[in-house]
Amino acid sequence: MSGNSILFQKALLSSDIELLKTIPKSDLHNHAPLGSRLINFSKAIGKNIMPPPEFMTDIAEMNSYIINNLRAEIVNHYGFKTSLELAFRQAKEDGVQKLEMSVDCQFITLFDDKEIGLINLLKEIHLKEAPDIVYNPEIGLSRNLEISDAESWIFPCIESGYFKSIDLYGEELIKDAKLYRDIFKKAKNSKLKLKSHAGEFGTAESVRYTVETLELDEVQHGIAAAVSKEVMRWLRDNNIRLNVCPTSNIRLGRVEKIEKHPARILADNGVVITINSDDIMIFNQSVSDEYLNLFHSKLFSINDLEILRQNGFQ
Ligand SMILES: [Zn+2]
Repeated sequence: MSGNSILFQKALLSSDIELLKTIPKSDLHNHAPLGSRLINFSKAIGKNIMPPPEFMTDIAEMNSYIINNLRAEIVNHYGFKTSLELAFRQAKEDGVQKLEMSVDCQFITLFDDKEIGLINLLKEIHLKEAPDIVYNPEIGLSRNLEISDAESWIFPCIESGYFKSIDLYGEELIKDAKLYRDIFKKAKNSKLKLKSHAGEFGTAESVRYTVETLELDEVQHGIAAAVSKEVMRWLRDNNIRLNVCPTSNIRLGRVEKIEKHPARILADNGVVITINSDDIMIFNQSVSDEYLNLFHSKLFSINDLEILRQNGFQ
């Protein structure tokens, strides 16, 4: 067993969050402007921001919280830059060594020189705040955007050669995945890793449908697959990893409590999963917090959690 494995287990057994933060972890499902704690963002911009409700029913309710409480503070140069700085700082402080953090393509509209401005800012902040983190820039797009807007913003980002992966998110059930085929084809031709949210609110079949339609490499969430042996077998056989975020699923009403999280069933059926943060500004749980929660819930043994930690580096 490696030194980090031993320390990881020691940190979990003694609930030592400070030690846990020093162990290398990955965060492969993280949406950048929301990648830091709300309290830190509030302090940095000098404004009190009302915290989100403890439980929300869906992405629409979460989006309306964001629109009413966060959007004005984030969608401007200063707020956006500050939120990115804090997100890198948060990842560094939490011992995240591999970070696939997405930035929505819509943010290029904040810059006169569009995607060039966004890319230069990301490069500058990564270098300044956390140069030791292996940061794989991810470009994101929301299903809530008009497809024509989404295409006009994301195509130049894909063509830039800077982004290493793409992720589709937003309200899962409002638009068919096939509407995004052109975007994902272009991303595939440009050698980006292909990811999409699926099976967070949809069904097991929708996970498989989204993977096949967009030729995905990985799925964000994908937890609905746990009700179908057939879909789980298919995910396992096709080596499709699911980047799971337990607290997000609970706060958005998809899972009753952590003890019942389907991550256990997925792992038991040979599906490769990783543990991630999603939106720390909304859910207030770092990757280290998530591991500790899973350990306390007894959903996974200490050895299982070490396997999940290592999955993130494969
Ligand atoms: Zn997400």
